[in-house]
Amino acid sequence: MPRIASPPTVLRELDGPDTCDMCGTPGLKTELVRDPFIYGAGDEGVELVVDIPVRTCSSCGSYTDDQAEDIRHDEVCRYLGVLTPTEIRDLRAKYDLSRRELARITGLGESSIARWETRDIIQNVGNDRYLRLLQDPAIFLRAKSLASPEPVHAEPGELPPDLEARLRETGTNFTLQPVAA
Ligand SMILES: [Zn+2]
Repeated sequence: MPRIASPPTVLRELDGPDTCDMCGTPGLKTELVRDPFIYGAGDEGVELVVDIPVRTCSSCGSYTDDQAEDIRHDEVCRYLGVLTPTEIRDLRAKYDLSRRELARITGLGESSIARWETRDIIQNVGNDRYLRLLQDPAIFLRAKSLASPEPVHAEPGELPPDLEARLRETGTNFTLQPVAA
């Protein structure tokens, strides 16, 4: 028996665009709605709860847009216990890397990284664990040194105090950037 989600409840009105996305009619209303949904099929289905913006147009009726889809996607990631797309972008930002550079260092596919970040697909648990491990600068620098014959350079202040010793233990090929005078 497929599960049926609990009914939605309107929480409050939100600021939003004035005109309808679909027909251009002004006077569009946006409300924050607590909207339970079923994730998974049949007996495996579980109810997840999200608060999403719902637009109401006097001519088209009520609808949700990409913003609601993104919120549902992120809730599924949290339910599965994997990084959200934003957290994957944050990982790249932490090391100031393009998708191409992250792909080169990790051996992950550049197009896979793009699809995870744009909410096209969710990374599997193995890849998710790999990404989480890379949040540790010591592991990231180790991966970087595996991917490159050149010594890895770390910026002053980038490494926690105990990290240099850990890197030496793992045989990571690295040099520290000299501190600017
Ligand atoms: Zn409309």
